[in-house]
Amino acid sequence: MTHSELRQLADTDGVSIGAHTLTHPSLPLLKRDDLKREISGSRQKCEEITGRRVVGFAYPFGDFDGSTANAVRSAGMDYAVTTLPREAGPRVDPFRLPRVTVADWGEADFRRMVLCYG
Ligand SMILES: [Zn+2]
Repeated sequence: MTHSELRQLADTDGVSIGAHTLTHPSLPLLKRDDLKREISGSRQKCEEITGRRVVGFAYPFGDFDGSTANAVRSAGMDYAVTTLPREAGPRVDPFRLPRVTVADWGEADFRRMVLCYG
């Protein structure tokens, strides 16, 4: 995707662009400075490209721990998504939001998966 295509996507109603690190490492394995650079650097890059404030983050490989979640919060993000396939309710930590992977399913399969978690 080009920067121009990304800007166009970011301008689409119902779409938000989130950060996902600079080099796609497993964040719990990083030292503090590298962790901060990966998170803040990717946020800054996304904001430069889209011209919009970036407040969402996705943990590469879904890997996170308490330090990682705190680093994302400290970087000024509003939320972060994991790869934990659970229901998201009002008591879920916004820096540990579950997420259901969506594949190239037909409507019936998509509906079944959504109902499974919701
Ligand atoms: Zn990824």
